[in-house]
Amino acid sequence: MNSTSRVVLITGASRGIGRNIAIEFALLGNKVAINYCKSAEKAEELCREIRVMGGEAKAYRANVASTSEVEVMVDLIESELGPIDVLVNNAGILKDNYLVMMSDQAWDDVIDINLKGTFLCSRNVAKKMMPRRQGKIINMVSISGLVGTPGQANYAASKGGVIAMTRSMARELGRYGITVNAVAPGFIETEMLSGLNQKQLGNHLQTIPLGRMGTTEEVAKITVFIASKDNSYMTGQIIVVDGGLSV
Ligand code: NAP
Repeated sequence: MNSTSRVVLITGASRGIGRNIAIEFALLGNKVAINYCKSAEKAEELCREIRVMGGEAKAYRANVASTSEVEVMVDLIESELGPIDVLVNNAGILKDNYLVMMSDQAWDDVIDINLKGTFLCSRNVAKKMMPRRQGKIINMVSISGLVGTPGQANYAASKGGVIAMTRSMARELGRYGITVNAVAPGFIETEMLSGLNQKQLGNHLQTIPLGRMGTTEEVAKITVFIASKDNSYMTGQIIVVDGGLSV
């Protein structure tokens, strides 16, 4: 794996999977831009942790679903840290409910953050990467975008949309030397799954061939490899990290 310093923007990096992705990139000597929306303290604490490890990190607040906030954030990162080499579209939310009970709000919020947020960040960063003729974009999707999951019409539609967008962007941006890939985790131990009770968790675990949930580190290490210079001929791919759940 290369350790040359690059500028990496990770959306939704204040907690969970994004937090570990930031740490892994920082450990390899990259400058990390830690995007968050609400968890300012956690984002600043992560920056301090990375600096103590000898790395470079800065926190940037922006709601990824806001056109203007994303534009301002991307410009600010480029002026403070330098040209963005890697974008990880990781910010995401869940608002599960059965179809007939799902509110318009739950639909709109999930589509806005997961799908439109990925579009807005990719559009702004791709504009900067294209003239430089290099860049890596990695979208955090989910096996819910690949296989049917009850109670997740909004989430599955958002992640399925990002999967389709990944392939479209890969076709469009390849000629500019930009690769676009996606990581599709299964069940990963984060706050996102805190809504599941023990019975639900037990039922899910029984369906995973490896018999356990994944860790944020396991997803982060794959993400860092996809972004590495060693991985130069892969684009438009969806890499599943789910302990075999979807096979
Ligand atoms: P998490 O622990 O709930 O963290 C979500 C992150 O997204 C937080 O840092 C949060 O920041 C940020 N975020 C939420 N809304 C945002 C917004 N509008 N603008 C900017 N940032 C926002 O979730 P996670 O489990 O780490 O999930 C990370 C990604 O992996 C998501 O895309 C999720 O769909 C995907 N995924 C997770 C699993 C799993 O099992 N955990 C499985 C498959 C896929 P603030 O707190 O600062 O708002």
